[in-house]
Amino acid sequence: MTKKSVEQTHTPMMKQYLKIKSEYSDCLLFYRMGDFYEMFFEDAVEASKILDITLTKRGKANGDDIPMAGVPWHQAENYLARLVAAGKRVAVCEQMEAPDGSKGPVRRDVVRVVTAGTITESELLDQASSASLVACYKKNERWGLASIDLSCGHWHLLEGSGDVALEEQLTVLNPAELLLMHNEDSPIQATQTCPGDWSFSASVAREQLEQHFGVSDWQSLNLDDHQQAAAAVGAVLVYLGQTQKCALEHLSLPVFIEQADGMRIDMRSRRNLELYSSLSGDPKAGMIAVLDETSTPMGARLLRNWIDRPLTDLDALRERQSAVKSLMDDSETLDALRQHLNGVRDMERMLTRIVLGRAIPRDYRGLADALLALPELSHTLGDRSGLFASITASLHGLEALADTLCKAIVDITPQNFRDGGMIRQGFDAELDRLRGLANDANAWLRDYETRERERTGLPNLRVKYNKVFGYFIEISKAQAKDAPVEYVRKQTLVNAERFITDELHSFESEILGAQDAAMQTEAGLIEALRLQLCQQATAIQMAARAVATLDVLACFAHLARTYHYIQPEMHTGRALKLVAGRHPVVERHLSSDEPFVANDTHMDLKSRRFMLLTGPNMGGKSTYMRQVAWIVWLAHTGCFVPAEEARIPLTKRIFTRVGAGDELASGRSTFMVEMMETATILNQLEPRSLVIIDEIGRGTSTWDGLAIAWSVAESLIKSDDVLTLFATHYHELTELPDEYKPAFNASVTVREWNGTVIFMHQVIEDAADQSYGIAVAQLAGLPREVIKRAREHLFRLEHGSELAAESGKSQLGLFAVAEKRQQEAELQSLRALRDKLAGVDVEHMRPLDALMLLDSLKNEVTGK
Ligand code: ATP
Repeated sequence: MTKKSVEQTHTPMMKQYLKIKSEYSDCLLFYRMGDFYEMFFEDAVEASKILDITLTKRGKANGDDIPMAGVPWHQAENYLARLVAAGKRVAVCEQMEAPDGSKGPVRRDVVRVVTAGTITESELLDQASSASLVACYKKNERWGLASIDLSCGHWHLLEGSGDVALEEQLTVLNPAELLLMHNEDSPIQATQTCPGDWSFSASVAREQLEQHFGVSDWQSLNLDDHQQAAAAVGAVLVYLGQTQKCALEHLSLPVFIEQADGMRIDMRSRRNLELYSSLSGDPKAGMIAVLDETSTPMGARLLRNWIDRPLTDLDALRERQSAVKSLMDDSETLDALRQHLNGVRDMERMLTRIVLGRAIPRDYRGLADALLALPELSHTLGDRSGLFASITASLHGLEALADTLCKAIVDITPQNFRDGGMIRQGFDAELDRLRGLANDANAWLRDYETRERERTGLPNLRVKYNKVFGYFIEISKAQAKDAPVEYVRKQTLVNAERFITDELHSFESEILGAQDAAMQTEAGLIEALRLQLCQQATAIQMAARAVATLDVLACFAHLARTYHYIQPEMHTGRALKLVAGRHPVVERHLSSDEPFVANDTHMDLKSRRFMLLTGPNMGGKSTYMRQVAWIVWLAHTGCFVPAEEARIPLTKRIFTRVGAGDELASGRSTFMVEMMETATILNQLEPRSLVIIDEIGRGTSTWDGLAIAWSVAESLIKSDDVLTLFATHYHELTELPDEYKPAFNASVTVREWNGTVIFMHQVIEDAADQSYGIAVAQLAGLPREVIKRAREHLFRLEHGSELAAESGKSQLGLFAVAEKRQQEAELQSLRALRDKLAGVDVEHMRPLDALMLLDSLKNEVTGK
């Protein structure tokens, strides 16, 4: 549409709309009109589909109806959430002045742009996870990342080199929105945005920091030596400026913290070990679901952070361990702490909303209650050293603020500020006075009514109020003729007349004025509280962090106490010793009549560096290997572990290759995925790695697969500072320990009983004697004829050469020999049948039981 035609055809309001929309053409525009956010044209059509709201019309453009759709302002959060989830960006445009009836539309401005990475409202966020906005800047081989969780104000800055490490770090940060330069491709799947290539610059970061935080002391941020990270900070701050359009006092300063590398676990391994959900996508079967016994949303987020970023700093780990131990040994304190923590709401996010001016009254009350709980937490904790000392220190210092807030804010807050009534009676004398005037109005009106009835002698005279006329006197039609002369007629109804008087009019001005003044005074008091909170934002954030830390430590202690986890001994040597280790998730999901079978693990670099694990399908190999990986992983977070004894070497990397599915969407077959995972492991192995390989070479022909599995196993055995658990169905590989000293065989045990297999789930130090694949297939319900034929084929395949010799001697064919074997198996089941019959007590049997027995015997014989 040309500018001229816009001017010719549109109302002044629509012109204003179109002008603002042209500045935010990549967003849906929420245009505030009274109590609604309205959308027009294509925005309305699109939003009505996403939100399933009515599409109406308003006015015309070039003779055509203008589509319109709207949402009520007080429900905007929910609608924004759905639009952002659908991948949209929404510019929120507010009325910047009260309508005064003058000509032309009121002034409007976009006050923020809501995007996936910049949301702060409670409804839009998952409580337990961080919604991070991440900027990624690459120069030559090096990259820098700046991540901010705007809803809490936490920064995370990183630098490194190489695409693999970058992908790994981005996977852990899991950005809700990723800021990249125009020509960059995203290393991971995420919503991408470019705030402008110019913004990725250390000098822009410097300017922005000065502007947002008044910081000119660049030194203390440690960004000088980290130019890539600094450039990424620049992009984040510019983008926040573009979208938030308000002060960001709640953000902490972006300090680059040098960190030891920590334990690295690549993206596929995290998925394989089922960190956030099972391989089939069920979050309830993920590790986090069984570990998260935290009581607060801050704790839940920090727990994920600790699990996501395991430490390799022994001192820090031991500090966490001794804190967990001290709580675990003091059940009473632990219970009291968890109870107090339960009542603490999301301080971090409530503070953010308050600072950004996006809070609702409930946030103020929630923050007041949370601050009030801090001294209680500290008191319950008592005098403890180590990690607790810094926690306790951060819990103090906010008592006065908590006191002010509690005195100021009512216990049950109104839904919206404009409902009034958020400030408590007795907090401010002027507010009480104004409210008193408004409240006294009712008494005055009742009194006035009585007076006027008596004075005029009209018993039906009523004093009433409506929005259009304000206060008035209503007299029935029959008595209206007797109204005093000073009554001024305002309106005639079918049955009544309405009047006003000077006295009523002046009362009205006073009363409405008092109500307005009360609202304004209350708004002023709330703003003053908000400013106080802004000033103390850093201290509140530190307290929130302390609460989160305490919550995670209490969660670890609770896990240890409830599920019998023990403190692992961490050491710089290389030996791994687990006595009676268990898988945290599998043990939780088994029923009590089928308890988890605990298993030991003993490995070291000299003679037990490579475990070759064999055994039947369903025997428990995957569970066992994952449990070893998890115990090692958890030990590096400070969490205690499910075992009776654990000595765990400091480990730098965990690699896994577990089963494989197609990644058809990315054009990779099962075998390709398998080989890519294997390549990742072999190419990135470094000293102090733990490798878990569950099957390899299964997606191709037997000989190719066996050959690949063999050479991969050899390569791992030869890696001299790597512990490997390697499960396979290729029995040929059980010969490896004969050739290589550091390798040893282990297997999961089964028992054969009554022609079927029973899984014992016990790991023993020996190779499995056979694979039981056919027995498992039988359990799964393959038809009897197919099973019978499979046994014959197996026999022929396994005994190919010896059968050939035998059949040559006895003139029998290969299948005849196989059949002979089958006959022997049948004889065995007949014997079992005979024993069963012999044990039947016919004399004491009810006829019905006899019939049922007969039926079951028949089923056994016919294999149904
Ligand atoms: P496959 O070779 O077919 O992948 P697997 O040997 O890896 O099989 P798992 O998948 O580890 O077997 O285990 C199969 C099932 O056995 C598990 O889902 C679990 O229910 C049970 N199980 C495994 N280990 C144990 C254990 N130690 N104690 C009790 N039950 C177990």
